[in-house]
Amino acid sequence: MVELTGRVIYAGESGYEDARLNFNTRYTASPFAIVFCQSVKDVINAVNWAQTSGIPVRVRSGRHHYEAFSVANDALIIDLNEMEQIQVGQGQTTIQAGAELVPVYETLSAQGVTIPGGSCATVGITGLTLGGGYGLLARWKGLTCDSLRSIEMVTAAGKVIVANSTQNTDLFWALRGGGGGNFGIVTSLTYQTYSIDKVTVYQLSWNWTEIERIIQFWQTWAAETDDRHTSILKLVPESVGSVFVVGQFVGTEAELRQVLAPLLELAPKAISIETLPYIEAVYAFAGLKPGYPKRLAHWHGSQTKFKNASDYVATPLNAAGIATVINFLKQAPSKNIVLQFDSYGGAIAKISSDATAFTHRQVKFNIQYQTYWIKPQDQTVHVNWVRNFRAAMQPHVTGGCYLNYCDRDLTNWQTAYYGNNWQKLKQVKQRFDPGNFFSFEQSVTSQT
Ligand SMILES: Cc1cc2nc3c(=O)[nH]c(=O)nc-3n(C[C@H](O)[C@H](O)[C@H](O)COP(=O)(O)OP(=O)(O)OC[C@H]3O[C@@H](n4cnc5c(N)ncnc54)[C@H](O)[C@@H]3O)c2cc1C
Repeated sequence: MVELTGRVIYAGESGYEDARLNFNTRYTASPFAIVFCQSVKDVINAVNWAQTSGIPVRVRSGRHHYEAFSVANDALIIDLNEMEQIQVGQGQTTIQAGAELVPVYETLSAQGVTIPGGSCATVGITGLTLGGGYGLLARWKGLTCDSLRSIEMVTAAGKVIVANSTQNTDLFWALRGGGGGNFGIVTSLTYQTYSIDKVTVYQLSWNWTEIERIIQFWQTWAAETDDRHTSILKLVPESVGSVFVVGQFVGTEAELRQVLAPLLELAPKAISIETLPYIEAVYAFAGLKPGYPKRLAHWHGSQTKFKNASDYVATPLNAAGIATVINFLKQAPSKNIVLQFDSYGGAIAKISSDATAFTHRQVKFNIQYQTYWIKPQDQTVHVNWVRNFRAAMQPHVTGGCYLNYCDRDLTNWQTAYYGNNWQKLKQVKQRFDPGNFFSFEQSVTSQT
Protein backbone atom coordinates (compact mmCIF):
# COMPACT_ATOMS: atom_id res chain seq x y z
CA MET A 1 0.00 0.00 0.00
CA VAL A 2 1.27 3.47 -0.88
CA GLU A 3 2.46 5.53 2.11
CA LEU A 4 1.43 9.01 3.14
CA THR A 5 4.25 11.42 2.36
CA GLY A 6 4.81 15.04 3.32
CA ARG A 7 4.45 16.35 6.87
CA VAL A 8 1.94 13.98 8.44
CA ILE A 9 0.39 14.58 11.85
CA TYR A 10 -1.79 11.84 13.30
CA ALA A 11 -4.45 12.34 15.98
CA GLY A 12 -2.85 12.79 19.38
CA GLU A 13 0.60 13.63 18.06
CA SER A 14 2.47 16.81 18.87
CA GLY A 15 1.13 19.64 16.69
CA TYR A 16 -2.28 18.01 16.18
CA GLU A 17 -4.22 20.72 18.03
CA ASP A 18 -2.77 23.43 15.82
CA ALA A 19 -3.07 21.33 12.68
CA ARG A 20 -6.81 20.72 13.09
CA LEU A 21 -7.71 24.33 13.96
CA ASN A 22 -10.23 26.20 11.79
CA PHE A 23 -10.27 29.93 11.28
CA ASN A 24 -13.85 29.78 12.57
CA THR A 25 -13.22 28.36 16.04
CA ARG A 26 -16.94 27.68 16.43
CA TYR A 27 -16.19 24.29 14.86
CA THR A 28 -13.76 21.67 16.14
CA ALA A 29 -13.19 18.43 14.25
CA SER A 30 -11.01 15.46 15.15
CA PRO A 31 -9.51 14.20 11.89
CA PHE A 32 -7.70 10.89 11.62
CA ALA A 33 -4.62 12.74 10.36
CA ILE A 34 -3.55 15.87 8.54
CA VAL A 35 -1.03 15.58 5.72
CA PHE A 36 0.70 18.85 4.88
CA CYS A 37 1.72 18.16 1.29
CA GLN A 38 5.05 19.55 0.11
CA SER A 39 4.74 18.47 -3.53
CA VAL A 40 2.25 17.24 -6.13
CA LYS A 41 3.61 13.75 -5.48
CA ASP A 42 2.53 14.03 -1.83
CA VAL A 43 -0.98 14.95 -3.01
CA ILE A 44 -1.11 11.95 -5.35
CA ASN A 45 0.12 9.64 -2.58
CA ALA A 46 -2.53 10.99 -0.19
CA VAL A 47 -5.31 10.38 -2.73
CA ASN A 48 -4.10 6.85 -3.50
CA TRP A 49 -3.64 6.07 0.20
CA ALA A 50 -7.17 7.23 1.01
CA GLN A 51 -8.67 5.34 -1.94
CA THR A 52 -7.01 2.14 -0.73
CA SER A 53 -7.71 2.60 2.98
CA GLY A 54 -11.30 3.77 2.55
CA ILE A 55 -10.74 6.71 4.91
CA PRO A 56 -12.71 9.78 3.75
CA VAL A 57 -10.80 12.91 2.76
CA ARG A 58 -11.24 16.64 3.04
CA VAL A 59 -9.15 19.13 1.08
CA ARG A 60 -7.84 22.24 2.76
CA SER A 61 -5.64 25.23 1.93
CA GLY A 62 -6.30 28.47 3.84
CA ARG A 63 -8.73 27.04 6.49
CA HIS A 64 -11.17 29.95 6.05
CA HIS A 65 -14.27 27.98 5.08
CA TYR A 66 -17.14 29.66 6.93
CA GLU A 67 -18.74 26.36 7.96
CA ALA A 68 -15.48 24.36 8.31
CA PHE A 69 -16.36 21.91 5.54
CA SER A 70 -12.62 21.55 4.85
CA VAL A 71 -12.24 19.36 7.96
CA ALA A 72 -14.18 16.40 9.36
CA ASN A 73 -14.01 13.85 12.15
CA ASP A 74 -12.00 10.71 11.33
CA ALA A 75 -11.05 12.01 7.87
CA LEU A 76 -7.65 12.47 6.26
CA ILE A 77 -7.17 16.21 5.73
CA ILE A 78 -5.11 16.80 2.60
CA ASP A 79 -3.68 20.24 3.27
CA LEU A 80 -1.89 22.27 0.57
CA ASN A 81 -0.99 25.28 2.72
CA GLU A 82 2.75 24.56 2.68
CA MET A 83 2.82 24.56 -1.14
CA GLU A 84 2.88 28.33 -1.54
CA GLN A 85 5.32 29.30 -4.31
CA ILE A 86 4.41 32.20 -6.56
CA GLN A 87 6.00 32.63 -10.00
CA VAL A 88 5.49 35.88 -11.85
CA GLY A 89 5.79 35.82 -15.65
CA GLN A 90 4.94 38.15 -18.52
CA GLY A 91 1.28 39.09 -18.05
CA GLN A 92 0.57 36.07 -15.89
CA THR A 93 1.38 34.37 -12.60
CA THR A 94 1.35 30.74 -11.51
CA ILE A 95 0.57 30.24 -7.84
CA GLN A 96 0.75 27.03 -5.84
CA ALA A 97 -2.55 26.15 -4.23
CA GLY A 98 -1.55 26.82 -0.62
CA ALA A 99 -0.63 30.49 -1.00
CA GLU A 100 -2.49 33.01 1.12
CA LEU A 101 -3.68 36.33 -0.25
CA VAL A 102 -1.31 38.93 1.14
CA PRO A 103 1.88 37.07 0.13
CA VAL A 104 0.34 36.82 -3.36
CA TYR A 105 -0.32 40.56 -3.50
CA GLU A 106 3.13 41.37 -2.08
CA THR A 107 4.95 39.21 -4.63
CA LEU A 108 2.92 40.52 -7.56
CA SER A 109 3.03 44.11 -6.39
CA ALA A 110 6.84 43.99 -6.29
CA GLN A 111 6.59 43.45 -10.07
CA GLY A 112 3.99 46.23 -10.52
CA VAL A 113 1.09 43.86 -11.16
CA THR A 114 -1.79 42.21 -9.32
CA ILE A 115 -4.85 40.00 -9.64
CA PRO A 116 -8.29 40.89 -8.28
CA GLY A 117 -8.70 38.97 -5.00
CA GLY A 118 -10.29 39.23 -1.58
CA SER A 119 -9.36 41.54 1.26
CA CYS A 120 -8.56 39.20 4.17
CA ALA A 121 -4.79 38.58 4.46
CA THR A 122 -4.89 34.89 5.30
CA VAL A 123 -7.67 33.58 3.05
CA GLY A 124 -6.34 30.87 0.74
CA ILE A 125 -6.09 31.74 -2.96
CA THR A 126 -7.58 28.37 -3.95
CA GLY A 127 -10.78 28.39 -1.88
CA LEU A 128 -11.29 32.04 -2.82
CA THR A 129 -10.88 31.43 -6.57
CA LEU A 130 -12.91 28.22 -6.82
CA GLY A 131 -15.91 29.92 -5.18
CA GLY A 132 -15.60 33.17 -7.21
CA GLY A 133 -13.48 35.68 -5.29
CA TYR A 134 -14.77 39.18 -4.53
CA GLY A 135 -12.63 42.12 -3.50
CA LEU A 136 -11.87 45.79 -3.96
CA LEU A 137 -10.83 45.43 -7.60
CA ALA A 138 -13.92 43.40 -8.53
CA ARG A 139 -15.75 46.08 -10.50
CA TRP A 140 -12.50 46.89 -12.36
CA LYS A 141 -11.28 43.40 -13.32
CA GLY A 142 -14.01 41.03 -12.12
CA LEU A 143 -13.93 38.16 -9.68
CA THR A 144 -10.72 36.26 -8.98
CA CYS A 145 -12.00 33.32 -11.02
CA ASP A 146 -12.48 35.62 -14.03
CA SER A 147 -8.71 36.08 -14.28
CA LEU A 148 -7.98 32.36 -13.99
CA ARG A 149 -6.39 31.03 -17.18
CA SER A 150 -5.33 27.49 -16.27
CA ILE A 151 -5.44 25.13 -13.33
CA GLU A 152 -3.60 21.93 -12.36
CA MET A 153 -5.53 19.33 -10.38
CA VAL A 154 -5.07 15.83 -8.96
CA THR A 155 -8.15 13.71 -9.64
CA ALA A 156 -9.83 11.07 -7.49
CA ALA A 157 -7.89 8.53 -9.57
CA GLY A 158 -4.60 10.13 -8.51
CA LYS A 159 -3.88 11.58 -11.96
CA VAL A 160 -2.56 15.08 -12.63
CA ILE A 161 -4.66 16.95 -15.18
CA VAL A 162 -4.82 20.49 -16.52
CA ALA A 163 -7.99 22.47 -17.20
CA ASN A 164 -8.06 25.63 -19.31
CA SER A 165 -9.73 27.03 -22.43
CA THR A 166 -8.47 24.14 -24.59
CA GLN A 167 -8.11 21.17 -22.21
CA ASN A 168 -10.88 19.77 -19.99
CA THR A 169 -12.95 22.86 -20.75
CA ASP A 170 -15.99 21.61 -18.81
CA LEU A 171 -13.85 21.25 -15.68
CA PHE A 172 -12.34 24.70 -16.28
CA TRP A 173 -15.90 26.07 -16.43
CA ALA A 174 -16.82 24.28 -13.16
CA LEU A 175 -13.72 25.41 -11.27
CA ARG A 176 -14.63 29.07 -11.82
CA GLY A 177 -17.38 29.38 -9.21
CA GLY A 178 -18.30 25.73 -8.68
CA GLY A 179 -16.52 25.71 -5.33
CA GLY A 180 -13.65 23.97 -3.59
CA GLY A 181 -13.43 20.34 -2.57
CA ASN A 182 -15.83 19.08 -5.27
CA PHE A 183 -13.88 17.86 -8.29
CA GLY A 184 -10.30 17.18 -7.24
CA ILE A 185 -7.31 18.68 -5.46
CA VAL A 186 -6.04 21.84 -7.11
CA THR A 187 -2.26 22.08 -6.94
CA SER A 188 -1.58 25.30 -8.87
CA LEU A 189 -3.44 28.11 -10.58
CA THR A 190 -2.37 30.42 -13.42
CA TYR A 191 -3.91 33.89 -13.66
CA GLN A 192 -3.74 36.85 -15.99
CA THR A 193 -2.12 39.79 -14.17
CA TYR A 194 -2.81 43.53 -14.47
CA SER A 195 -0.46 46.48 -14.09
CA ILE A 196 -1.16 48.53 -11.01
CA ASP A 197 0.62 51.40 -9.29
CA LYS A 198 -1.28 53.75 -6.99
CA VAL A 199 -4.93 53.58 -6.01
CA THR A 200 -7.18 55.96 -4.11
CA VAL A 201 -9.07 54.64 -1.09
CA TYR A 202 -11.74 56.30 0.99
CA GLN A 203 -13.93 56.05 4.04
CA LEU A 204 -16.99 58.22 4.61
CA SER A 205 -19.21 58.08 7.68
CA TRP A 206 -22.54 59.44 8.86
CA ASN A 207 -24.44 59.31 12.13
CA TRP A 208 -26.51 56.15 12.44
CA THR A 209 -29.68 58.26 12.29
CA GLU A 210 -28.90 58.81 8.57
CA ILE A 211 -29.01 55.08 7.80
CA GLU A 212 -32.22 55.07 5.76
CA ARG A 213 -31.20 57.70 3.24
CA ILE A 214 -27.65 56.31 2.94
CA ILE A 215 -29.00 52.84 2.08
CA GLN A 216 -31.51 54.38 -0.32
CA PHE A 217 -28.84 56.31 -2.16
CA TRP A 218 -25.98 53.78 -2.11
CA GLN A 219 -28.04 50.86 -3.43
CA THR A 220 -28.95 52.59 -6.69
CA TRP A 221 -25.60 54.33 -7.11
CA ALA A 222 -22.74 51.93 -6.30
CA ALA A 223 -23.28 49.31 -9.03
CA GLU A 224 -23.60 52.00 -11.72
CA THR A 225 -20.43 53.98 -11.03
CA ASP A 226 -17.12 54.02 -12.97
CA ASP A 227 -15.84 50.43 -13.31
CA ARG A 228 -12.58 51.41 -11.64
CA HIS A 229 -14.50 52.01 -8.42
CA THR A 230 -15.61 49.31 -5.95
CA SER A 231 -17.70 50.41 -2.99
CA ILE A 232 -18.82 48.74 0.23
CA LEU A 233 -21.60 49.95 2.53
CA LYS A 234 -20.86 48.86 6.10
CA LEU A 235 -23.80 48.90 8.47
CA VAL A 236 -23.34 48.24 12.17
CA PRO A 237 -25.75 48.09 15.12
CA GLU A 238 -27.36 51.31 16.26
CA SER A 239 -25.36 51.12 19.50
CA VAL A 240 -22.11 51.51 17.49
CA GLY A 241 -23.37 54.81 16.17
CA SER A 242 -22.22 55.29 12.55
CA VAL A 243 -22.83 54.23 8.96
CA PHE A 244 -19.77 53.76 6.75
CA VAL A 245 -19.07 53.67 3.01
CA VAL A 246 -15.57 52.50 2.10
CA GLY A 247 -14.04 51.80 -1.27
CA GLN A 248 -11.16 51.79 -3.68
CA PHE A 249 -10.63 53.52 -7.02
CA VAL A 250 -7.96 52.76 -9.60
CA GLY A 251 -7.19 56.39 -10.42
CA THR A 252 -6.51 59.76 -8.87
CA GLU A 253 -8.21 61.54 -5.99
CA ALA A 254 -9.57 64.20 -8.37
CA GLU A 255 -11.24 61.51 -10.51
CA LEU A 256 -12.58 59.70 -7.46
CA ARG A 257 -14.05 62.91 -6.07
CA GLN A 258 -16.09 63.19 -9.28
CA VAL A 259 -17.37 59.63 -8.80
CA LEU A 260 -18.18 60.31 -5.14
CA ALA A 261 -19.72 63.75 -5.74
CA PRO A 262 -23.38 62.70 -5.26
CA LEU A 263 -22.47 60.73 -2.13
CA LEU A 264 -20.50 63.67 -0.74
CA GLU A 265 -23.62 65.80 -1.20
CA LEU A 266 -25.18 63.67 1.55
CA ALA A 267 -22.83 65.50 3.93
CA PRO A 268 -20.75 62.80 5.65
CA LYS A 269 -19.61 63.69 9.15
CA ALA A 270 -16.11 62.37 8.37
CA ILE A 271 -14.26 62.08 5.06
CA SER A 272 -10.96 60.30 4.50
CA ILE A 273 -9.56 60.05 0.95
CA GLU A 274 -6.01 58.93 0.31
CA THR A 275 -3.93 57.98 -2.74
CA LEU A 276 -1.33 55.36 -1.91
CA PRO A 277 0.68 52.50 -3.42
CA TYR A 278 -1.60 49.54 -4.15
CA ILE A 279 0.08 47.25 -1.61
CA GLU A 280 -0.53 49.80 1.15
CA ALA A 281 -4.21 49.82 0.22
CA VAL A 282 -4.15 46.03 0.55
CA TYR A 283 -2.69 46.36 4.05
CA ALA A 284 -5.23 49.03 4.92
CA PHE A 285 -8.24 46.88 3.97
CA ALA A 286 -6.72 43.78 5.57
CA GLY A 287 -6.09 45.70 8.79
CA LEU A 288 -2.35 45.02 8.58
CA LYS A 289 0.93 46.81 8.70
CA PRO A 290 3.94 45.77 6.56
CA GLY A 291 6.15 43.13 8.16
CA TYR A 292 3.32 41.51 10.12
CA PRO A 293 3.92 37.96 11.39
CA LYS A 294 2.08 35.32 9.39
CA ARG A 295 -1.56 35.07 10.44
CA LEU A 296 -1.28 37.80 13.07
CA ALA A 297 -4.44 39.47 11.87
CA HIS A 298 -6.87 36.61 12.12
CA TRP A 299 -5.35 33.54 13.58
CA HIS A 300 -4.02 32.30 16.94
CA GLY A 301 -5.18 34.43 19.79
CA SER A 302 -8.23 35.79 18.05
CA GLN A 303 -10.25 32.61 18.71
CA THR A 304 -13.26 34.09 17.02
CA LYS A 305 -16.45 32.16 16.53
CA PHE A 306 -18.80 33.38 13.87
CA LYS A 307 -21.96 32.80 11.89
CA ASN A 308 -22.08 34.57 8.55
CA ALA A 309 -24.44 34.25 5.59
CA SER A 310 -25.23 36.09 2.38
CA ASP A 311 -27.95 37.19 -0.03
CA TYR A 312 -28.06 38.97 -3.38
CA VAL A 313 -30.10 42.04 -4.30
CA ALA A 314 -30.99 42.57 -7.96
CA THR A 315 -33.55 45.36 -7.63
CA PRO A 316 -33.10 48.06 -4.99
CA LEU A 317 -34.67 47.33 -1.61
CA ASN A 318 -38.10 48.93 -1.24
CA ALA A 319 -39.21 50.76 1.90
CA ALA A 320 -40.18 47.50 3.61
CA GLY A 321 -36.79 45.95 2.80
CA ILE A 322 -34.91 48.94 4.19
CA ALA A 323 -37.14 48.95 7.28
CA THR A 324 -36.28 45.27 7.85
CA VAL A 325 -32.56 46.07 7.72
CA ILE A 326 -32.95 48.94 10.16
CA ASN A 327 -35.11 46.96 12.59
CA PHE A 328 -32.68 44.04 12.76
CA LEU A 329 -29.72 46.35 13.31
CA LYS A 330 -31.66 48.05 16.11
CA GLN A 331 -32.27 44.64 17.72
CA ALA A 332 -28.70 43.40 17.26
CA PRO A 333 -27.66 41.08 20.11
CA SER A 334 -24.20 42.68 20.43
CA LYS A 335 -21.88 45.22 18.88
CA ASN A 336 -19.91 42.48 17.09
CA ILE A 337 -22.11 42.56 14.05
CA VAL A 338 -21.59 43.90 10.54
CA LEU A 339 -24.05 44.00 7.68
CA GLN A 340 -21.99 44.61 4.57
CA PHE A 341 -23.28 45.47 1.09
CA ASP A 342 -20.66 44.68 -1.59
CA SER A 343 -21.23 46.47 -4.90
CA TYR A 344 -21.42 44.37 -8.07
CA GLY A 345 -21.87 45.51 -11.69
CA GLY A 346 -18.79 46.66 -13.62
CA ALA A 347 -16.56 43.84 -14.88
CA ILE A 348 -18.46 41.20 -12.88
CA ALA A 349 -21.60 41.83 -14.92
CA LYS A 350 -19.83 41.74 -18.30
CA ILE A 351 -19.58 37.94 -18.14
CA SER A 352 -22.78 35.98 -18.69
CA SER A 353 -24.30 33.93 -15.87
CA ASP A 354 -23.60 30.62 -17.61
CA ALA A 355 -20.13 31.40 -19.01
CA THR A 356 -18.59 30.13 -15.77
CA ALA A 357 -20.12 28.25 -12.84
CA PHE A 358 -20.43 31.56 -10.94
CA THR A 359 -24.01 32.57 -11.67
CA HIS A 360 -24.68 35.78 -9.67
CA ARG A 361 -23.62 38.26 -12.35
CA GLN A 362 -26.65 40.50 -12.86
CA VAL A 363 -27.14 41.86 -9.36
CA LYS A 364 -26.72 45.22 -7.68
CA PHE A 365 -24.97 43.97 -4.56
CA ASN A 366 -24.28 41.12 -2.18
CA ILE A 367 -25.40 41.31 1.44
CA GLN A 368 -23.06 39.78 4.03
CA TYR A 369 -24.58 39.09 7.43
CA GLN A 370 -21.70 38.78 9.91
CA THR A 371 -21.89 38.04 13.64
CA TYR A 372 -18.98 37.26 15.97
CA TRP A 373 -18.77 36.09 19.58
CA ILE A 374 -16.25 34.50 21.93
CA LYS A 375 -18.18 32.89 24.82
CA PRO A 376 -20.11 29.69 23.93
CA GLN A 377 -23.20 30.99 25.73
CA ASP A 378 -23.41 33.87 23.22
CA GLN A 379 -23.74 31.56 20.23
CA THR A 380 -27.49 30.92 20.09
CA VAL A 381 -28.56 34.54 20.14
CA HIS A 382 -26.11 35.46 17.36
CA VAL A 383 -26.95 32.48 15.15
CA ASN A 384 -30.68 33.09 15.58
CA TRP A 385 -30.26 36.75 14.72
CA VAL A 386 -28.67 35.83 11.36
CA ARG A 387 -31.29 33.15 10.66
CA ASN A 388 -34.23 35.42 11.48
CA PHE A 389 -32.77 38.40 9.64
CA ARG A 390 -32.11 36.35 6.51
CA ALA A 391 -35.61 34.87 6.63
CA ALA A 392 -37.16 38.33 6.93
CA MET A 393 -35.15 39.56 3.92
CA GLN A 394 -36.28 36.81 1.55
CA PRO A 395 -39.08 38.86 -0.11
CA HIS A 396 -36.46 41.47 -1.04
CA VAL A 397 -33.57 39.36 -2.38
CA THR A 398 -32.91 37.02 -5.32
CA GLY A 399 -32.76 33.76 -3.31
CA GLY A 400 -29.12 33.37 -4.39
CA CYS A 401 -26.25 33.02 -1.97
CA TYR A 402 -22.50 33.55 -2.53
CA LEU A 403 -20.78 30.17 -2.19
CA ASN A 404 -17.74 31.67 -0.47
CA TYR A 405 -20.12 33.11 2.15
CA CYS A 406 -21.88 29.79 2.46
CA ASP A 407 -24.43 28.77 5.03
CA ARG A 408 -25.04 25.26 6.37
CA ASP A 409 -28.64 26.23 7.23
CA LEU A 410 -29.67 26.49 3.57
CA THR A 411 -32.02 23.73 2.50
CA ASN A 412 -32.03 24.73 -1.19
CA TRP A 413 -28.28 25.34 -1.39
CA GLN A 414 -27.95 23.82 -4.89
CA THR A 415 -30.16 26.56 -6.37
CA ALA A 416 -29.00 29.26 -3.98
CA TYR A 417 -25.31 28.83 -4.88
CA TYR A 418 -25.52 27.74 -8.49
CA GLY A 419 -28.91 28.68 -9.99
CA ASN A 420 -29.28 27.22 -13.49
CA ASN A 421 -25.66 26.03 -13.50
CA TRP A 422 -26.40 23.16 -11.10
CA GLN A 423 -27.24 20.56 -13.78
CA LYS A 424 -23.99 21.14 -15.66
CA LEU A 425 -21.98 20.94 -12.43
CA LYS A 426 -23.48 17.50 -11.78
CA GLN A 427 -22.36 16.37 -15.25
CA VAL A 428 -18.82 17.59 -14.62
CA LYS A 429 -18.83 15.78 -11.29
CA GLN A 430 -19.93 12.58 -13.02
CA ARG A 431 -17.04 12.86 -15.46
CA PHE A 432 -14.25 13.67 -12.98
CA ASP A 433 -15.39 12.06 -9.72
CA PRO A 434 -18.11 9.48 -10.46
CA GLY A 435 -17.40 7.63 -7.20
CA ASN A 436 -18.03 10.77 -5.13
CA PHE A 437 -14.60 10.47 -3.48
CA PHE A 438 -14.61 14.23 -2.84
CA SER A 439 -17.63 14.70 -0.63
CA PHE A 440 -18.78 17.02 2.15
CA GLU A 441 -21.99 18.48 3.61
CA GLN A 442 -22.89 20.63 0.58
CA SER A 443 -20.77 19.04 -2.14
CA VAL A 444 -21.72 18.62 -5.78
CA THR A 445 -22.70 15.03 -6.44
CA SER A 446 -23.74 13.50 -9.74
CA GLN A 447 -26.76 11.86 -8.11
CA THR A 448 -28.77 14.57 -6.31
C1 LIG B 1 -12.08 36.39 7.57
C2 LIG B 1 -12.54 36.00 6.19
C3 LIG B 1 -12.45 36.93 5.18
C4 LIG B 1 -12.88 36.61 3.90
N1 LIG B 1 -12.81 37.56 2.91
C5 LIG B 1 -13.25 37.27 1.67
C6 LIG B 1 -13.21 38.23 0.63
O1 LIG B 1 -12.75 39.37 0.81
N2 LIG B 1 -13.70 37.89 -0.59
C7 LIG B 1 -14.22 36.65 -0.84
O2 LIG B 1 -14.65 36.40 -1.97
N3 LIG B 1 -14.24 35.70 0.13
C8 LIG B 1 -13.79 35.98 1.37
N4 LIG B 1 -13.85 35.04 2.35
C9 LIG B 1 -14.42 33.72 2.04
C10 LIG B 1 -13.36 32.80 1.45
O3 LIG B 1 -13.17 33.13 0.10
C11 LIG B 1 -13.85 31.34 1.55
O4 LIG B 1 -14.05 31.00 2.89
C12 LIG B 1 -12.85 30.39 0.90
O5 LIG B 1 -13.49 29.17 0.66
C13 LIG B 1 -11.65 30.18 1.78
O6 LIG B 1 -10.68 29.40 1.13
P1 LIG B 1 -9.49 28.77 2.00
O7 LIG B 1 -8.60 28.05 1.06
O8 LIG B 1 -8.92 29.79 2.88
O9 LIG B 1 -10.28 27.79 2.96
P2 LIG B 1 -10.33 26.22 3.17
O10 LIG B 1 -11.18 26.06 4.39
O11 LIG B 1 -8.97 25.63 3.22
O12 LIG B 1 -11.07 25.70 1.88
C14 LIG B 1 -12.29 26.26 1.43
C15 LIG B 1 -12.96 25.31 0.44
O13 LIG B 1 -12.09 25.07 -0.67
C16 LIG B 1 -11.70 23.69 -0.72
N5 LIG B 1 -10.29 23.64 -1.04
C17 LIG B 1 -9.26 24.17 -0.33
N6 LIG B 1 -8.11 23.92 -0.94
C18 LIG B 1 -8.39 23.21 -2.05
C19 LIG B 1 -7.60 22.66 -3.08
N7 LIG B 1 -6.27 22.78 -3.07
N8 LIG B 1 -8.22 22.01 -4.09
C20 LIG B 1 -9.56 21.88 -4.11
N9 LIG B 1 -10.37 22.37 -3.15
C21 LIG B 1 -9.78 23.04 -2.13
C22 LIG B 1 -12.03 23.13 0.65
O14 LIG B 1 -12.28 21.74 0.59
C23 LIG B 1 -13.25 23.94 1.04
O15 LIG B 1 -14.41 23.41 0.43
C24 LIG B 1 -13.41 35.32 3.63
C25 LIG B 1 -13.48 34.38 4.66
C26 LIG B 1 -13.06 34.72 5.93
C27 LIG B 1 -13.18 33.70 7.02
